[in-house]
Amino acid sequence: MVENLWNDKIAAQFLDAAGDDDADRQLALRVYTSRIIGQDPELVMHGGGNTSVKVRRKDLFQNSIDVLHVKGSGWDLETIEAEGLPGVRMAPLADLRNLPSLSDEEMVNVQRSNLLDSAAPNPSVETLLHAYIPHKFVDHTHATAMLALANMPDVAKIVAEIFGARVVLVPYIMPGFELAKTAADIFDANPDVEGLLLVNHGHFTFSNTARGSYELMITHVNEVEAWFDNRTKSKVPAGRALERRTEILPMLRGALTRVMAKHTGNADQSAPVLDLRASDAALAFMQRNDIEELATRGVATPDHVIRTKGYPLVLTRQILADGPDGLERAIAEFADRYIAYFDRQNTRIGGGKTMLSPTPNLAWIEGLGLVGIGPTAPTARIAADLGEQTLQVMTLAEANGGFHSIGENDLFDMEYWSLEQAKLGKAKPRALEGKIVLVTGGAGAIGMATAKAFKAQGATLFLVDLDAAALETSSAILGQDHASFAVNLVQTGAAENAVEACVARFGGLDILVSNAGAAWAHDMASMPDDTLRNSFELNFFAHHHMAQAATNVLRHQGCGGQLLFNVSKQAVNPGKNFGAYGLPKAATFFLVKQLALELGANGIRVNGINADRIRSGLLTEEFIAQRSKSRNLDAKSYMAGNLLQREVEAHHVADAFVALALSERTTAHVMTVDGGNIEASLR
Ligand code: ZN
Repeated sequence: MVENLWNDKIAAQFLDAAGDDDADRQLALRVYTSRIIGQDPELVMHGGGNTSVKVRRKDLFQNSIDVLHVKGSGWDLETIEAEGLPGVRMAPLADLRNLPSLSDEEMVNVQRSNLLDSAAPNPSVETLLHAYIPHKFVDHTHATAMLALANMPDVAKIVAEIFGARVVLVPYIMPGFELAKTAADIFDANPDVEGLLLVNHGHFTFSNTARGSYELMITHVNEVEAWFDNRTKSKVPAGRALERRTEILPMLRGALTRVMAKHTGNADQSAPVLDLRASDAALAFMQRNDIEELATRGVATPDHVIRTKGYPLVLTRQILADGPDGLERAIAEFADRYIAYFDRQNTRIGGGKTMLSPTPNLAWIEGLGLVGIGPTAPTARIAADLGEQTLQVMTLAEANGGFHSIGENDLFDMEYWSLEQAKLGKAKPRALEGKIVLVTGGAGAIGMATAKAFKAQGATLFLVDLDAAALETSSAILGQDHASFAVNLVQTGAAENAVEACVARFGGLDILVSNAGAAWAHDMASMPDDTLRNSFELNFFAHHHMAQAATNVLRHQGCGGQLLFNVSKQAVNPGKNFGAYGLPKAATFFLVKQLALELGANGIRVNGINADRIRSGLLTEEFIAQRSKSRNLDAKSYMAGNLLQREVEAHHVADAFVALALSERTTAHVMTVDGGNIEASLR
């Protein structure tokens, strides 16, 4: 059931904030109901759907004009503001209806040149459809139940059964001028309808009040859901989940990267980010014996093709059993089929299109679930969200007459829409775009600064820390599409668990920043063994175990990777009473070189940082006060006690980690970040 979220009190708050102008008040209610539509993923997801309101406003000459406020591109209904609903003069839009045809570029141009605010975003490509429905408020969604219905062969019969004459069908036409005209003609022939069901696409409702149009939307969707509920009896069991996801996901990632590299000709091809969905519903779907056939049926609504491609990659247990070679073969076959599809279709339309990446954006994996694939975590997440909705749509439709989407020509027209092609190549990826970076001690001063520095280069962060509360705060700062895992790294199996959690979330790992550490102070002569052993557990063995667990994943991926260590100047330049810290750090310093030697042939680079005197959990304000006093210095001079006479801060260490990450031919190197200290300088 979709819930009716209309609330008189909140609606009144929107009206109060809008002031006295009637047009502004209508627009405020439009913002309100757009948001409550956007809040429900059953109705719309990821910029899908659009809404509008028609108002009268005064132009500069005090003439009253009709204005359509319609969702602007780049806005999401869930978070929309009034400026996300740009105003367009209605009269020129109405005139267009008399034209026999209009290209998408011409349509966009007319819409843009009639904006009230020349700086406003592009009005939706469905603007004309909104303009040609005479009702004041128009709402358009891609609700899950509606999509199932819209893709069933008996849609006309079922719509008549559920709605009688209240909802009328519009045949499939790609969004734009032609769809708007057809829908308008159908509406004009049925002026009393409450809504339109666009075959293979979605649903419109309209009314003269914001609440009326919204409530029709909710009612219609619930009527369709009830129709399905009465028929869908048996539930498919979720089936047995494979335990091998931490092995399969990195293998898939590596195989995708190698096939992508073949097509781009880029030997340093970045690996994609993966987003696994292993819900009971997804696992049950993957148990079906017809998934290979269902995978050829296409998209739930044409919008999706841009995010998910027309078809997913299917990986059966048989393919998985063949290991990396089997995966690579299956992906290469997918790419070959995609290239053949592109060539066939590009020829049909007379050429001129630029082929998108031929590798899949979605994988259906038997025993594992559904995987979204993208160059970044958000693109993988969006593909996975839409992919999950498609599974629901297919399951519902298949149980009630079959899922039959648009054909290949329509699919290609949407995927290679000129308006989408125009956006290609405009955004330059950042240096570490999509790289999955695991930082231990991620909630501490250096760990957090490092996470931020990698994020600024486009990386996806996975933070690991002992302090669960601090980790939550740090994760919130990084935002959605980054993740974290609380664990004490000195516990048995902790490193494996941390890396496994990262793999389960993002599909693999590219860069380990092994940073967690703590200092124990004692003189050597009377040091209890426990003190030294405890320090070794964290300052050496935790690094060693993280390196082992990370290397295991990097080898499954088979496309290089990096291990970065926060060593310490103590590794080469001991301080009095810091033996318990310096000894394991000296071992970690050696570990950098040993690993670099052994992993070079796998393309895995291993580097470290020797930092000194950074304000952090190790070097607290109290400690700084104590040490500066013992040297007869004020805290500021103590902190700036280096050749450059400037304090070294956590972000300087973070920048050095990023610099090492970007130095493609550097390995077995330890970089000093201490403002200059001749005694601690290397070689
Ligand atoms: Zn739509």
